[in-house]
Amino acid sequence: LVKPVFKQDWQLNHEQVELIQELGSGQFGSVYKGWLQVTPFRSKVLVAVKTLHEQHLNADDRIKFLKEANLMLKLDHPNVVKLYGVCASREPIMIVMEYCASDSLENVVTKKKTSNVEKANFLHGAAKGLEYLHHEKIIHRDIAARNCLIDSRGKVKISDFGLSVKGVEVKDQKGGRLPVKSMAPETLRRGLYSNASDVYSFGAMMFEVYNEGREPFGECNLDGNQLRRAIIHQKVVLSIGKHCPAEIVTLFDWCRQFDPKLRPSFTQVLEYLITIDGVPLED
Ligand code: ADP
Repeated sequence: LVKPVFKQDWQLNHEQVELIQELGSGQFGSVYKGWLQVTPFRSKVLVAVKTLHEQHLNADDRIKFLKEANLMLKLDHPNVVKLYGVCASREPIMIVMEYCASDSLENVVTKKKTSNVEKANFLHGAAKGLEYLHHEKIIHRDIAARNCLIDSRGKVKISDFGLSVKGVEVKDQKGGRLPVKSMAPETLRRGLYSNASDVYSFGAMMFEVYNEGREPFGECNLDGNQLRRAIIHQKVVLSIGKHCPAEIVTLFDWCRQFDPKLRPSFTQVLEYLITIDGVPLED
C-alpha cells in the first residue's frame, strides 16, 4: 500500500511562478521580480524570487540556501519579509517571498532626502520586526540598512536571514564573509552572538540611517583585521554625528554600550522610540 503524500502549503510548483525581471544578484544566484499564482481561484501576487544558480548545486550550498527558507517559514509579522514558499521539486530551486517595491533602507536613505521623523519611523518599524524575531528566539546576526527592505507603503521589512540562527545566545567562531563594521565587540572577540549583539548592530544601522547611508567607521581607513582589534580594545568609538537629534544620540549610545548587559532589548528600544513626536506614523 502506498501512503498518500500530502503537499505542504509552502511547497510550490514552478508553474505557479512567473519571473518578470531580474532585481539583483544574491549570494547564491539572481533575485527576480515575479508573479505567484497562490491558488487557481485567486489573483496573482507580486513576489521576489531567489534562485539557486547552477554553480551552487552541491549539497552543501543547497542546504545553506534552503536553511534561510526553513527559518523564514515559521515567521509571520508585518515587519518581517514574508515567505510564500519554495519550489524545490526540480531545478532551478527557488524561494518565493513577499515583494518589497520601494528598495532597501540603505538605498532610500542614500538617495532620498528623508526627515528626522521618517528616519525615526524606519527605526521603529525595524525594531518591531526585530523584537518579534527575538521573541521567536531567532538572532538575525546581519542587521544593516541593506538588509531592511521598504514596501510600497513605506513599511520596513527585515530581510536576509542568510546568517540567522535559532537561539538566545550562540557561540560561532567561524570566519568567512562577516560584517565587521556592524559587529559587537563580544562577537569580534569571542564569537558570541545574542539578542544584545543584534541591538549593537541596530546601533550601527542607526548610524547609516542618520548619515545618508554611509558605512560605520568608513573614515577610519583600517582594514577588517585592524578594525576588529580597534573595536575589541575600544580604540575606536562610533559617533552618530552632531547633526543628529539629541534623543536619537541617547538611544544610539545605549545600543552601543560595550557591555552587552547594559544594552536595551528591542522592547525597550520601542518604548523609547514612541516617546519621539510623530512615532509611530500609523498602524
Ligand atoms: P542574498 O542575501 O542572497 O545576497 P539579497 O537578499 O541581498 O540576496 O538580494 C539581492 C537583491 O535582490 C537585493 O539587493 C534587493 O534589491 C533584491 N531583493 C531581495 N529580496 C527582495 C524582496 N523581498 N523584494 C524586493 N527586492 C528584493
